[in-house]
Formats: sequence, structure tokens, C-alpha cells
Amino acid sequence: MKVHEFQAKELFRDFGIPVPSGTVATSPSKAVDGAKSVPGPPWVVKAQIHAGGRGKGGGVRLANSFEEVEKAADEILSHPLITPQTGASGQKVRQLLIEEGLDIDKEFYLGIVIDRKLECPAMIFSQAGGMEIEEVSAQHPELVLIENIDIAHGLMPYQTRNFFYVLEPLPDKSVLQELSTIMTKLYALFISKDCSLVEINPLVITKSGKIVALDAKINFDDNALFRQKEIAQFNDPYEMDELEARASEYNLNYIRLDGNVGAMVNGAGLAMATMDVIKLAGAEPANFLDVGGGASEEMVTNGIKIILSDKRVKAILINIFGGIMRCDVLARGVVKAAKEVEINVPLIVRLEGTNVEEGRAILQNSDVDFSVAQDMEEAAKMVAEQVS
Ligand code: GDP
Ligand code: MG
Repeated sequence: MKVHEFQAKELFRDFGIPVPSGTVATSPSKAVDGAKSVPGPPWVVKAQIHAGGRGKGGGVRLANSFEEVEKAADEILSHPLITPQTGASGQKVRQLLIEEGLDIDKEFYLGIVIDRKLECPAMIFSQAGGMEIEEVSAQHPELVLIENIDIAHGLMPYQTRNFFYVLEPLPDKSVLQELSTIMTKLYALFISKDCSLVEINPLVITKSGKIVALDAKINFDDNALFRQKEIAQFNDPYEMDELEARASEYNLNYIRLDGNVGAMVNGAGLAMATMDVIKLAGAEPANFLDVGGGASEEMVTNGIKIILSDKRVKAILINIFGGIMRCDVLARGVVKAAKEVEINVPLIVRLEGTNVEEGRAILQNSDVDFSVAQDMEEAAKMVAEQVS
């Protein structure tokens, strides 16, 4: 689960990691009110969306007067924000963080992720802060330092010193002590809140010598949310694709894609294979939808409705291999969906496996208009013809 920067910074505050003073606003006039309660000028007006790279897309603006705060807020709130991480259509901004602007002397990168190979947290530190760490890592790997942390011991003092030995010029001892304290606190946050990623980019030293987390990003392990109730409350449904949010309510594994062939499949492997054959046949899948092994009639009905809610869908392919899931259950789900919403695009069905005859009979005896494909290849060709 992802959270907004202002929420991540609340947690930083709780853990004693210094952040700039700031307040959240939802309109240009509230942004001005907010600026009045925060030290400045200058102020920084920051779009709160889950995607990163906001600076590059114009979602982080420096303002030197209340008029400039209002103008920046108005501009950010009135257009979808497009950043390298949002996709071409961008993301609507509903909230802004108004912060005191700081004079930056030096920018660092500090983060923690899980090293899956070594099965432990890895702290990453770089003196090339403020830039995309992936880029720094590709072009100057020597500037990205990694320390794997043994969770039985926690972050050891020698590990923070390993980060500092290479710094040139070496900052004052007091700065190093403060950096090392921040690293320890960030690790404490990472462990106690079940994070999968924390990132401060940039962590800055200001001209007056203070160390401050200027940006904050935290992702949490979804599987731990049951014991992180206050984190779960940070969830922002607006940041999710509307159809994906609906699908998750019904326990469907649904991911929206860019094509126009809606697909309903059981099993993630079969779903991926189906997307491949659709592409091989020259068409593009509109979604990944795995209704799961033990899908109920209800889930199938909801799956069809979600596919049909995507206005780009021009044809639907149902590809089911009945194992634990029975073909008759699938067929009843489709028939029920057809009664509740109009299936107004061509429907191609390929059924195989448990209770296949019964499933076919249910579909044939219903009002549902559909074509039968004998195998996956034929199914993909048939559906591709419908959208070409
Ligand atoms: P991101 O682009 O989504 O990662 O957003 P950031 O919070 O990292 O902001 C982008 C950039 O804006 C930072 O790397 C800084 O260079 C700049 N920035 C943000 N806040 C301040 C500030 O208070 N003072 C100055 N001078 N620059 C800032
Ligand atoms: Mg940043």
C-alpha cells in the first residue's frame, strides 16, 4: 500500500525524523491560509499524488508570495499531473502540501528496501541526492552504497560509518552523528510499521546546517495491514483506478491495461497465457482478470460487469479451464451478468474441463449471444477479428 508524502511525513515526525513544517490544503484559498501558518516566504507547494517525479512534471513549485502560492495551487489542482511515473493521462491532484521553503546546501539519498535474494532489509545511501536513484545507480554505481541489515542485530554503527567514509568533503562530526541518528530512526520506522520501502530523496543539509527530510515516500506490506490499523486508514481510494478498486472489493485479481479485448480467465498463469495469445493474434488485452480457482457465480457476474464498465472494451474473451472452478458455475455467472447488464460487444467463449458439457448447455439455453472457440489459438483469432 502506498501513502501520500504528507502522511509519510507524519510518521517521520512520530519517529523523530526532522521534516519541514507544513500543512495540507485542498483549494488555492486554503493553500494561502496554509502558507500563513507556515514559516516563509519562500514556500513550497507540492502535489500529493502517489506517483513520484512530481518535480519534473511541475508538481513541486517554489512560491515567494501569497499570490504565487495561490497561483501555483490553482495550476496544480486544475490539471492532471503528468510525471514519469503517472502514465500519459496523468493523475488528478486533490490535495497539496504547503511547506516552508528551505535553503539547500547538500542533498543526499537515503532509503530502505527489502533485498529479496538475501531476505533482509537493505539500507541505501547516496551523496547524489535529489536525482532518480535508478539513474544514479546505472551511471555512477560507485555513488550508491548499500548495507544489508541483519534483523537480529538491527542497523549497526559500523554500517552507518561505512556510508560516511567515502563522503568528500567529510561533513562535521555533529552532522554525521545526526545523519546516523536519522538512519537508525528510519530503520526503526521501517521495521515497526511493516514497510516494504522507505525513501527520503532528498535528505538535505540546509545552509543553516540543519538536516531535514525534504521528501518522503513509504510503501507498506499489504499482508501486514491487519495489524497496522492506523496505516490502513491512510488508504486513498482516489489514487486507485476506479475499476481496480471495485474489483478488489469483489476479491478479483484485475489490472487494467491499454487494449480493447476484455478477458476473463481463471488462474494467473492462464490469464497471462491468454494475454500472450491475444497479442500474438494481433490484438491488445484491455485487462488482466483472474477470477481465481474457486470463483463463485457472483464473482464471475461481477467480473463481466467490470469488464463491460471499461468503455474501451470492444470484445470479450472468456477462457476458462475448469479445475476447482466448474464450467457450469462460470456459465451461470455469465448468464446472470447478461440479465443485469447488456452485453453489447461480441463474446467469445472457450471452455474446457470440469462440467464443461453442463456449462455449454447452460450458455446455449440462455439468451446470451456468444461464439464458441475450440481452443485458445482459435479463441484469440476470433476475438482479434472482432476488434480489427
Ligand atoms: P519528487 O520530484 O516527487 O521527488 O518531489 P520532491 O519532494 O523530491 O521535490 C522535487 C525537488 O524540488 C527536490 O529535489 C528539490 O530540489 C526541490 N525542492 C523541494 N522542496 C524544496 C525547498 O524547500 N527548497 C528548495 N530550494 N528546493 C526544494
Ligand atoms: Mg523526491
